[in-house]
Amino acid sequence: MTEAHAELAPYAATVERSRGRLHAEPPPALRTEFQRDRDRIIHATAFRRLVYKTQVFVNYEGDLYRTRLTHSLEVAQIARTAARALRLNEDLVEAISLAHDLGHTPFGHAGQDALNECMRDLGGFEHNLQSLRVVDQLEDRYAAFRGLNLTFETREGILKHCSVKNARELGDVGRRFLDRTQPGLEAQLANIADEIAYNNHDVDDGLRSGLITLEQLATLPFLDEPLRRIKKAHAKLKPQLQGSELVREMIGRLVADLVAASAAAIAAAAPRSIDDVRALPHGLIESSAPLREERLQLKQFLRDALYMHPRVQQMTAQARDTVRLLFESLTADYDRMPDEHAASARQRAAAGDEAGAARVVADYIAGMTDRFALQTRDSLRADR
Ligand code: MG
Repeated sequence: MTEAHAELAPYAATVERSRGRLHAEPPPALRTEFQRDRDRIIHATAFRRLVYKTQVFVNYEGDLYRTRLTHSLEVAQIARTAARALRLNEDLVEAISLAHDLGHTPFGHAGQDALNECMRDLGGFEHNLQSLRVVDQLEDRYAAFRGLNLTFETREGILKHCSVKNARELGDVGRRFLDRTQPGLEAQLANIADEIAYNNHDVDDGLRSGLITLEQLATLPFLDEPLRRIKKAHAKLKPQLQGSELVREMIGRLVADLVAASAAAIAAAAPRSIDDVRALPHGLIESSAPLREERLQLKQFLRDALYMHPRVQQMTAQARDTVRLLFESLTADYDRMPDEHAASARQRAAAGDEAGAARVVADYIAGMTDRFALQTRDSLRADR
């Protein structure tokens, strides 16, 4: 099935211009190829697990905070809004958004940093690369191929950054990190929608948890005026609702600015196709300079006030210790993993491939939910 082309800009990704899938498949009857990617992602085991994975607050801290799953849905929603306004491919941008965090370890960034540390001399661990690994290799659902066999465009969008060394091993999808070219506009959009989503929902979760306050937010120059205005217009509203009003306004403003600034950049560069977009030395989807600066300030504020908050740091320390203990215990005795993983690790170790065996352990840990990681840690401790 083809897209309604009159509605898509000439520089949007289309099924006709797609670089296709690694394994050729008959075209879908009722959906486009990018819808099929989206649907495969939603049916993936790794996608279901996102609901039990930390965004900032560990899953058991409360039921009201974002998880990796609700974060991914918010990214998709923001990206789709901007995609429609810019006449980009909504199905593709949705597929990329929903898949972008599939490779995240339990316990958010603390988990990824700990696993990366454990794998330091064994090839490292990077959650973004792991997201591609999940859809290319680790999902095991099809008789004919490993992974989900997604289109090049979705895979291109999932791989946001990549070292030169890894890029060399990835083939076509890693090529642009060697050539220093761009991905398609849908990939660029999903990347920025990710940042808009997490900055704003972390403010919302931060306020809800009481770890940050409206007074602290008012110290940011660009939030002082909107906060005064909201407090004046809704003086009787409880602070939490004033905070919701603020977050709602911030997202709306960022998305409107992103669409306007990107439309202007696209008009100036005048690409006629997605390959024109890819050949440019710089991206075209970006906020205006003043709002880029605001995004940066908000990011720094969140780092100092929320991510470095003693209560979040306490969770971070626990997460680090848990991942380290899991890695050490499972590397010391592969048989503590399920049979399939244990056999694979043993086989590699027997062949002298230490890094390969460690990678099996890292894949297994990265796939865990917060809860399962803690349960496994407890059972490993009890075994000692
Ligand atoms: Mg994300």
